Amino acid sequence: MEPESVSESAHIESNLKRYLETERLLNTFFSAFDYCLSNCIQPALQKNGHRPVAACCTKKYYASEDLDHPAFERLRQERERLFGKPQDHSWPNPVSPCEYHNPFRGCLLSSHKSPICLAFICPEGIDCLRKHHGIYGYDYLGVYYALEWILTGDLPEQHYLEFKESIITMTKKF
Ligand code: SF4
Ligand code: SF4
Repeated sequence: MEPESVSESAHIESNLKRYLETERLLNTFFSAFDYCLSNCIQPALQKNGHRPVAACCTKKYYASEDLDHPAFERLRQERERLFGKPQDHSWPNPVSPCEYHNPFRGCLLSSHKSPICLAFICPEGIDCLRKHHGIYGYDYLGVYYALEWILTGDLPEQHYLEFKESIITMTKKF
């Protein structure tokens, strides 16, 4: 990979800042939704005799889905600075191939997740958003691509602002 110029590097930092700001908004949205624990994790634990479950963390998504792009590399560096490298984590009887998945507490990454991990809501969760909260605008693939483009700097300014506003509007519905 070519060395980055000063302006490229500033551009990447600014994209990362936007990405993390969007991640904070999405995390607030997910906390308000508060779906996974009671509707999926707890029933799955019960079914599994209270042994840990992986739920939807079934792959090393950070490895399989992240783009080969300097901004993704910067996200990875910051993630590893804050939460350690994948190989720093090992769990007795792991239930997910993803090293960041603590079998008892779920994902270790309270921030700096990969776009796919951050955007994902399963079809059951999307159904619940529609049926019980009147939220029809959460399109998992759309959110995933928007997050990728925020990070790579390909999402036009106006779309970025509209995207942020749409997350805030959805969050107010709870
Ligand atoms: S997104 Fe769906 S599958 Fe994943 S933990 Fe939440 S409810 Fe479970
Ligand atoms: S990084 Fe977190 S959300 Fe993504 S697969 Fe691993 S444990 Fe799951």
